[in-house]
Amino acid sequence: MSPDSKIALGDLQRQYGELREELHEAIDRVFDSGWFILGKEVEAFEKEFAAYSGSQFGVGVGNGTDALHLALRALGVGPGDEVALPVNTACPTAIAVTSCGATPVFVDVDPITSTLDPVDLESRLTPETRAIIPVHLYGFPADMDRILEIANHRAIPVLEDCAQAHGSRYGDRQVGTMGALAAYSFYPSKNLGAYGDAGMVTTLDPELAHRVQMLRNYGQSRRYHHDVIGFNSRLDEIQAAMLRVKLKHLERWIENRRHLAACYTRGLAGSGVEVPEMPDHGRHTYHLFVIRTDDREGLEAHLAEENIQTLVHYPIPLHEQKAFEDLGYSRGDFPVAEELAPRILSLPLFPELREWEVDRIVNSVRRFHGES
Ligand SMILES: *Cc1c(COP(=O)(O)O)cnc(C)c1O
Repeated sequence: MSPDSKIALGDLQRQYGELREELHEAIDRVFDSGWFILGKEVEAFEKEFAAYSGSQFGVGVGNGTDALHLALRALGVGPGDEVALPVNTACPTAIAVTSCGATPVFVDVDPITSTLDPVDLESRLTPETRAIIPVHLYGFPADMDRILEIANHRAIPVLEDCAQAHGSRYGDRQVGTMGALAAYSFYPSKNLGAYGDAGMVTTLDPELAHRVQMLRNYGQSRRYHHDVIGFNSRLDEIQAAMLRVKLKHLERWIENRRHLAACYTRGLAGSGVEVPEMPDHGRHTYHLFVIRTDDREGLEAHLAEENIQTLVHYPIPLHEQKAFEDLGYSRGDFPVAEELAPRILSLPLFPELREWEVDRIVNSVRRFHGES
């Protein structure tokens, strides 16, 4: 690799290169079995992933959005209900709510962690609030003690959006074990990613697990017995088999991410950009490394010129998205998220990124800010 070759935000080809043989063995195993939907691989992966994440039951579903949607349905969320969620998250967190016929209620975020602000949460709850979805954004745990205190006080169930937080911890508790249910995505670029779409609901509650199991498979309690109106959102055997291979490497990958994040943090100290400043309440798994800068457009263009890919997670807070115009929010309703959106920038970070590549990115950022 030449010193100015392209550095992508994420690079799944490097990982595939390392896993090729293991993956092909797993795929062969599935083809040889002749069974492709909800079989032994899915069952095994459900158990292995639930154990990894400190939960009891795992229910494999089609993707992370469905995991959120079916988890909300299992909680009985429907038309007329409101569900509170942070205004700066991936759009699917809100789509899961509208898919139930319920109304998303946006909440501003903490200026340091970018996760759900418990004080603002309290002010947006109404008698119609039927669930709260904290998002462990970028891999960092939301402020669960304060969120749970508010939720428990009003007996509102909590659904944790763990799509960016496989393996993250809040203090010494694992994310996904504190709310009634948790939703995971295995979209290819997530910290644990499939080779296509995949997702999972985890819970410690057997009754909720049973409901999600029915909902994902036409509402069946057993074959041809439809107890509820369900959906088709199943995890397939090939994805499950490949995810089982990758799960064995996940802890090492997370440690690589944490190490590279520490290299960035050291390298960017005093450079003119702000690195993620994290209160000491958990284990960050660095799904994304998001810096803040007063000249985002300039820095984006400069890095692009030096063949370094960046993205913004997320450029437009949900209340300013056209799709949610009918909710009636306006500019000024979420001052923290609005202030952050134009300042954030995600730098390349993936387990196979090399330290010298981080150095090259760091130097490029420093050059932009007038150092040579
Ligand atoms: C990726 C993501 C989702 C959706 O997952 P899909 O598998 O793409 O449906 C939901 N919430 C957050 C925070 C995500 O990052």
